[in-house]
Amino acid sequence: MRYSSYFMPTYKEIPSDAEVISHQLMLRAGMIRKLTSGIYTYLPAGLRSIKKVENIIREEMNRSGAIEILMPAVQPAELWRESGRWDHYGHELLRFRDRHNHDACFGPTHEEVITDLVRREIHSYKQMPVNLYQIQTKFRDEIRPRFGLMRGREFIMKDAYSFDVDEEGADRSYEIMNETYTRIFQRCGLRFRAVEADTGAIGGSYSHEFMVLADTGEDQIMNCMECDYAANLERAEVKLPDSQPESDRNDMNPMEEVDTPDIKTVEDVTSFLSITPDELIKTLIFVVDEDVVAVMVRGDHEINEAKLKNFLGAQDVELADTDLVSETTGAPMGFAGPVGLKIKLVADNAVKEMKNFVAGGNRKDLHLKNVNLGRDFSVDRFGDLRVITPQDSCPKCSGKIQFGRGIEVGHIFKLGTKYSKSLKALFLDEQGKERPIIMGCYGIGVGRTVAAAIEQNHDKNGIIFPIPISPFEVTILPLQIHETSVAETAEKIYADLLNHDIDVLLDDRDERAGVKFNDADLIGIPVRVTVGLRGVRNDQVEVKLRAEPESIVVPINEASAIIRQKTKDLYDSLK
Ligand code: ATP
Ligand code: MG
Repeated sequence: MRYSSYFMPTYKEIPSDAEVISHQLMLRAGMIRKLTSGIYTYLPAGLRSIKKVENIIREEMNRSGAIEILMPAVQPAELWRESGRWDHYGHELLRFRDRHNHDACFGPTHEEVITDLVRREIHSYKQMPVNLYQIQTKFRDEIRPRFGLMRGREFIMKDAYSFDVDEEGADRSYEIMNETYTRIFQRCGLRFRAVEADTGAIGGSYSHEFMVLADTGEDQIMNCMECDYAANLERAEVKLPDSQPESDRNDMNPMEEVDTPDIKTVEDVTSFLSITPDELIKTLIFVVDEDVVAVMVRGDHEINEAKLKNFLGAQDVELADTDLVSETTGAPMGFAGPVGLKIKLVADNAVKEMKNFVAGGNRKDLHLKNVNLGRDFSVDRFGDLRVITPQDSCPKCSGKIQFGRGIEVGHIFKLGTKYSKSLKALFLDEQGKERPIIMGCYGIGVGRTVAAAIEQNHDKNGIIFPIPISPFEVTILPLQIHETSVAETAEKIYADLLNHDIDVLLDDRDERAGVKFNDADLIGIPVRVTVGLRGVRNDQVEVKLRAEPESIVVPINEASAIIRQKTKDLYDSLK
């Protein structure tokens, strides 16, 4: 490609509406342009990166035995009504009506469409296992579209769906996707980790997210430093607390009332009573689907709503508003406690081990001291209901844990029979018995993968693309384009590299050297070849890797071979 006739509008200024570095750099490097909130045009260089990610995905999916199809973006509402999601998906689902007044949506995901296809075409165990995938445009009307391609409303996703006759088969399909995703993200040159993820209220199933490790990631993740346990924070299990010795349990002091005028928060109560937060209990009132439930955690712990939702098997959990709190507890917000409360009480496991603690008194300006479980109140159910903290140890091996942030680029999910049951995708097994197909689904955000790669690989001058997903592999900068010897040397290397199927950008613009260097660094092409008058007179050109500070000088007639070797080395370093 010749830069002079290419379309890659770069600029220097930091765009004011771009918060994260990948978004800024993709705009500045002329890769994307915004049409409207969360909706982008891919300019040629951006599209090249996108296509390279797609090709890696396609090669690895095909290698795994999955088969590519392409489903429509527009989906009829009837299918979503059948699965029950028309009413549950909420505002992220872009809905519209055609001229015949039929409700439809723009697909945010394709479980309904693929299950409809499969229920019509697959009837026998002999037709499975099968894994069908597509690379296609999705629409999700995200509440907060941001960070460019990272969280768009319209975006390209690879989504795959596996169909198996039994649990073992479905587990195998899942494991194949786990390995395939690992290869895909390795080949994209990313530093990533697969973590256990929340599955919502689907039950019995499991899922992993592939997280690109980056401080700007929206997700919080934890991992054990001693074993391989890693999880999204909203999922991470908390190790059961060590039980207190029996003798300690009998050590209960008489319960006392204390006046706490206008003292409500954990901070206020602990400082007023000169206690630490772990000597206090927080009681929060939740609306759980139709019911009102009190949830207790230790004062220094936070309730994990995803866990709470799974624990109660609920569709929806939400903190009660002030009116409901005072109606339920008889006190304004901030004074709720378990003693005398007449609603269902659930508590985090850590509460079981507490004694002589402080709790709200269910009356304005009142707290209770020396409250004890069993004697003063009882709990309906205990469970793991809180967010893990850095002070916790690994739930699997008790090792030390650490926290970090990540960008979710892929998600693999064992669905089980959720969709095959609701949409009646059934098959006849070997005994001629009708059974629902066991499904899995597997997504990768293509644009988000490019953005995540940039988030992880950049410096103050611009992008440092991993070579497999860079718009170009090599760029050649002839510094004095009007000098015949310079232009001819650059053309010769350019032609030779093209002949060897290298993606080369020849910067043949009539621009100052500084402009060319700046653009090359901004766009982040991994190998740069500088052809300057002085060098050419000495029969030399300069070769520099974007990721390394030093350049090397090579003889012109060896330049092409050396550059090709450099690009190959860059690919090999990711294997
Ligand atoms: P998130 O929690 O980030 O909203 P999700 O759990 O909704 O993601 P999935 O439904 O699992 O995402 O979609 C599969 C993949 O599609 C994600 O792993 C992510 O890479 C990508 N993706 C999801 N939403 C977006 C979006 N709004 N913009 C770009 N990519 C997205
Ligand atoms: Mg989402």
